[in-house]
Amino acid sequence: MSGEASGKDGAKGVNGASEAYGLPLPELEGYAKDFYDFCQRETLHFQRCAECQTYRHVPRELCARCGSWSWAWAPSSGRGTIFSWTVVGRALHPAFGESVPYAPVVVEMEEGVRLLSIMVDTPPEALEIGLPVEVVYDAVTPEITLPKFKRSTA
Ligand SMILES: [Zn+2]
Repeated sequence: MSGEASGKDGAKGVNGASEAYGLPLPELEGYAKDFYDFCQRETLHFQRCAECQTYRHVPRELCARCGSWSWAWAPSSGRGTIFSWTVVGRALHPAFGESVPYAPVVVEMEEGVRLLSIMVDTPPEALEIGLPVEVVYDAVTPEITLPKFKRSTA
């Protein structure tokens, strides 16, 4: 993660917010780029250890369970449950000033990994621990599709 200004960052506005989208976007570098490339194809993948088969997220080199360097991308079912959430009432980043109040959620996927995201169809007051959810894809810019969640209908 370099702090240097470069051509690809030219479209950034206030504190790194994308001017096209208005909110900060993930940096497309390394394994994060691979993760978001899958999202752009509307499929969710997580790294899975080739030794102990444990899934992990966010992307990293080493398995935290067994220490193996060996892994592959593996598809996710896209389903999980609400593990936790919080309601943001005061924006900590200027770009989110018009979004408050909103509720970032932590989704525990069936694969065991947890993903920080947001619900597209459930107001904060209707959230519950354990609520079944499934992934939806929000193409917020031509380059970036964010995985978000809705209540599971299954
Ligand atoms: Zn492992």
